[in-house]
Amino acid sequence: MKKLEDKNYQIIGHPRLVRLNPNIPWKTRGNGAVSINLENGDPKKIKEIIEEFIDKYARFDDKKTNPGFVILKGQPSFDIYEKSVKGIVTLEETEQLLDSLGAVYKGYKNKRGLIGATASIAWSPKHDKTYELIAYREKNRWGTKRQVDSSSVKKINESFSSTFDNFDYENDHNRLVPSSPCPVLYGIRGENIDDLIQASFVVKSEKVESWIIFETNQGTDEHLQRRNINKIAPYQSVITEGVVTKIPYTIEGGHVIFSIKDSTGEIDCAAYEPTKQFREIIRELIPGDKIEVYGGVRKKPLTINLEKINTKHLEKQVEKVENPVCPKCGKHMKSKGTGQGYKCKKCGTKSEKPLVKERKRNIKTGFYEVPVCARRHLSKPLKRMEP
Ligand SMILES: [Zn+2]
Repeated sequence: MKKLEDKNYQIIGHPRLVRLNPNIPWKTRGNGAVSINLENGDPKKIKEIIEEFIDKYARFDDKKTNPGFVILKGQPSFDIYEKSVKGIVTLEETEQLLDSLGAVYKGYKNKRGLIGATASIAWSPKHDKTYELIAYREKNRWGTKRQVDSSSVKKINESFSSTFDNFDYENDHNRLVPSSPCPVLYGIRGENIDDLIQASFVVKSEKVESWIIFETNQGTDEHLQRRNINKIAPYQSVITEGVVTKIPYTIEGGHVIFSIKDSTGEIDCAAYEPTKQFREIIRELIPGDKIEVYGGVRKKPLTINLEKINTKHLEKQVEKVENPVCPKCGKHMKSKGTGQGYKCKKCGTKSEKPLVKERKRNIKTGFYEVPVCARRHLSKPLKRMEP
């Protein structure tokens, strides 16, 4: 943007940071694409500036880096974005579309970056949006350990309620700071531009070289689609409702697995180890509970990787306290063996059911989400879902 402005291009509005399908196995880490809106300019001249810039800064040595850029007059259909955030888009269809729209474009290495670049231009904040203020490091600091004071990050979390995913208190994780060796120093996510700017003044850190506010689809749940269980396919992200059929169990690695069914089928759900304390909530589920699950679909085995759940009905959980009492004799009956009921030793009266009491459930109806440290960029935090 600086380079374009130096050459007198007018930038309109905020740059846009658009996250795409988080379940695509061949994606880059955050599966993000950025786009900017220029008031005018000759696409061929703009291309020269972008090419020079990419040649200088793109990390072609990284196996997963396959950049691409697209220059378009006007926006492609919003459907292109929707498909790229919810499903799978091929390079072939992207190139066909770009040719049909008369785009100027260039893909590098396997060229998949073109798919994201196109989707980023196609996104519009018409349904929902958030902002992220990204602060950048001085070039000589790139790749070194970042200095961002955690207590100042907690402070912004407490002072600016329109910001989200700042700090994970349970896991002592400063979420403002990325873990990759990229030029980003930190990013503050939120609803409100003024609050983001004010918050950035509160963060204590090494020198900020520059900063900018992106308009984004982060925290919007736009990757999710409602599906019956039999219509769930790999690499989608879904919302589906069902009844718990299996008591959650823990497998090697600390992942917690259970399954749900609806009238169309049954599917496994998983709270993986990185979701930390969320697994303790999942372990409280019992067969009969009715829940709505939100998450990405893994292919093998077909499993929903949970981002959040909404428990709608909690089954009554009872436990046996003692054998039944004979109504005639007033004495406790004796068990006839597992599952075979009870019988009074004295008069022979039979009963099927022991005395039970309801066990208190340790979870309530309503939403539970993974902790901040495990949050996906696209996942809408519960904080944003409350009215
Ligand atoms: Zn009796």
